[in-house]
Amino acid sequence: MSDKPVNRATFDQVMVPNYNPQAVVPVRGRGSRVWDQAGTEYIDFAGGIAVNALGHCHPRLVDVLKGQAERLWHLSNVFTNEPALRLAGEITAATFADRVFFCNSGAEANEAAFKLARKYAFDHFGPEKHEIIAFNQSFHGRTLFTLTVGGQAKYREGFEPVPAGVSHVDFNDLAALEAAISDRTCAVVMEPIQGEGGVIPADPAFARGVRALCDRHNALLVFDEIQTGVGRTGHLYGYEALGVTPDILTSAKALGGGFPVGAMLCTEAVAQSFGFGTHGSTYGGNPLACAVAAEALALINTPEVLNGVAERHDRFRAALEAINARQGIFSEIRGGGLLIGAELTPPWHGQAGRFLAAAREAGVMLLMAGPKVLRFTPSLIIELEEIELGMERLERAIAAVIAEGPEAAAG
Ligand SMILES: *Cc1c(COP(=O)(O)O)cnc(C)c1O
Repeated sequence: MSDKPVNRATFDQVMVPNYNPQAVVPVRGRGSRVWDQAGTEYIDFAGGIAVNALGHCHPRLVDVLKGQAERLWHLSNVFTNEPALRLAGEITAATFADRVFFCNSGAEANEAAFKLARKYAFDHFGPEKHEIIAFNQSFHGRTLFTLTVGGQAKYREGFEPVPAGVSHVDFNDLAALEAAISDRTCAVVMEPIQGEGGVIPADPAFARGVRALCDRHNALLVFDEIQTGVGRTGHLYGYEALGVTPDILTSAKALGGGFPVGAMLCTEAVAQSFGFGTHGSTYGGNPLACAVAAEALALINTPEVLNGVAERHDRFRAALEAINARQGIFSEIRGGGLLIGAELTPPWHGQAGRFLAAAREAGVMLLMAGPKVLRFTPSLIIELEEIELGMERLERAIAAVIAEGPEAAAG
């Protein structure tokens, strides 16, 4: 490896400009603290976008990764392997699912889910039953099929033509779904809490209604739990809290605690439509990824960690409400568990990015969920004093942005 110095400016010279990363380059992380090239410390409220559910470099995950690295890295699916089999056993035992397909990212898990939903309908009802209904503002990934199912037109622009047979209705609007669904519908796809779309929870009555409509029309219910899964809501998966069981569920992000891995879970009957040769992935079920994910799952799926999420949710909400009482910057604070959104008041709409940059300068990492919502997806085991310290820094950042004033051309 070359030791030629690299920094943020290097990004603009050698990387495709599809991202615009913050001005510093983090080099080290431990728990919920991260340090950049200059040694500046940050409190991490972003968690790598809801991925680092056990913080950075959790010692148990590091041990498991090192142990597996000395044993076996990769086989492909020409052979199966012990870590994949163990993880599959644990994840099916802990959920509604009977079967699992492993892949490497959220989009791949959704791609598998949408293909399987179509194949299941094809097998049981014929080719006419191929329509997929999803919700406006939803996010399901950036591959061509997943951005088509996603309910944000900006991600499709310039990439048409996209796959056919996909439509969208408003989230939490059961009448709209009832009007759109038919016997041609093969699947309805939803997030228990829309993440990227602005941190918008599904109403439990709506979720139950979606399930009933799917049953009435022999459509599969697909829960995209890529952001809400693996403890994020204080339950292992968000469907548990909604009292609704999907037919297919996708998981990624927190599943590997930072090691890339995705999974599509489904019932026995649905799984049978992915017969031999119908779908695949070279890396899917890779021993390194599955060993780490099995350890992450074991660490997270405990009453201590899951109950701790509810406690931390209350701390976050109380701190954000206290900031709001002094600064008057949020119109709503919402979400569940450690997926929390704070919507900016109208003068600040379109300017969430300014708050992220100011927060970074004040020593705290956070996210946005669209241009008017600040999003918090920290480690599920973030220390309470780290929440306090991060919130002090966040308030300083918010006060600095307020002192500069809103941009005139705010949208
Ligand atoms: C992040 C996310 C995806 C896409 O996952 P990738 O790993 O980026 O492909 C899909 N759906 C939801 C709900 C997500 O939050």
